[in-house]
Amino acid sequence: MARKAGRHFLQIPGPSAVPDRILHAIARQTIDHRGPDFAAVGQTALEGMKTIFKTEAGHVFIYPASGTGAWEAALVNTVKEGDRVLMYETGHFATLWNKMASKLGVEAEFIEGDWRGGADPDAIEARLRADTNHEIKAVCVVHNETSTGSVSPIAQVRAAIDAAKHPALLMVDSISGLASVDFRFDEWGVDVCVSGSQKGLMLPPGISFNAVSDKAMAVARTGGMRRSYWDWNDMVGPNATGYFPYTPGTNMLYGLNEAIAMLHEEGLDAVFARHARHGAATRAAVRGWGLEVLCAQQGQESGVLTAVLMPEGHSADGFRKTVLEQSDISLGNGLSKVADKVFRIGHLGDFNDAMLLATLTGVERGLTRAGVPHQKGGLDAAIEVLDTVDASALKAAE
Ligand SMILES: *Cc1c(COP(=O)(O)O)cnc(C)c1O
Repeated sequence: MARKAGRHFLQIPGPSAVPDRILHAIARQTIDHRGPDFAAVGQTALEGMKTIFKTEAGHVFIYPASGTGAWEAALVNTVKEGDRVLMYETGHFATLWNKMASKLGVEAEFIEGDWRGGADPDAIEARLRADTNHEIKAVCVVHNETSTGSVSPIAQVRAAIDAAKHPALLMVDSISGLASVDFRFDEWGVDVCVSGSQKGLMLPPGISFNAVSDKAMAVARTGGMRRSYWDWNDMVGPNATGYFPYTPGTNMLYGLNEAIAMLHEEGLDAVFARHARHGAATRAAVRGWGLEVLCAQQGQESGVLTAVLMPEGHSADGFRKTVLEQSDISLGNGLSKVADKVFRIGHLGDFNDAMLLATLTGVERGLTRAGVPHQKGGLDAAIEVLDTVDASALKAAE
């Protein structure tokens, strides 16, 4: 195969491009994970992730697993077969989490959604109020729905649970939201947050996280289902001194510690504002082309990715193939219900204006090459946003 010069643009909404600093941090010798030098690596990672989740009281667990593993960990530690959980259909990832819960034998109730916005706190509150026997043990919501580009209002979901005076745990999938979109574990009263390495944290895929409140830890001490690998109770002891009950992803932890340092050097608020600004510029481009953004809820559009509806009769996957061949840019595909109907532009992680403009240029050229009806002007509209929107004035959706 002929060598391709220049960098490939990995503009799928995770994995995101890994910055050189992180690659270099990972490219060091693996050390003895039970030896004296490891404690500082483990402690820095566990303490550092608390600052990313924004929790002081919560516990952080790190698994050598993809995000899906951390989903399972959240469920098996807190609910058992036959327990009821309330989930909200924001899109493909909420659907997968729901299916997982069912496979585990949990009664996984699903509030239907149209895949065009975040979870509706009013619908959650109404269902919880009707659950007078408190059969629902947990409310599970996806923070940033990566299949649609919508952000759920987590603080309002908490408020809905409180308004219904319901004791259910609040479990949040922020696999693609964390470190890109504002997330506040303690302030929002989240009980379990699930996250992963390969999205906002800018790492390769391979490790994932649970942040856990004292309330959820107490449930796990006597409850949950049969489990071994995922058991929080087995992690607590070794974690207290920076160690793990089994071999951790040592080199990924080197990378994680670098990522945490980078996020704080930039400042989390600046990171969120940068993502929000790139999201706004991308939506301006899409509308400038005369195309439609999948997220239809104003204020819930994601700074992580933008899902774009393809005009009737045109294949989103055919278009993505054109863009890959023409510009060496990978765009995200439509998942399940919206397969071939949407494409997704990832603008997350280690990303700047020039990279966004290159990506949007690739999209515009691809629309022309693939014969997709559109107007010119998308790029200009994006530049206009980049030139006029003050990043510090933009706040991520809450
Ligand atoms: C990526 C993602 C997942 C799945 O994570 P894996 O690492 O692929 O297992 C789940 N939920 C959301 C919201 C995601 O973005």
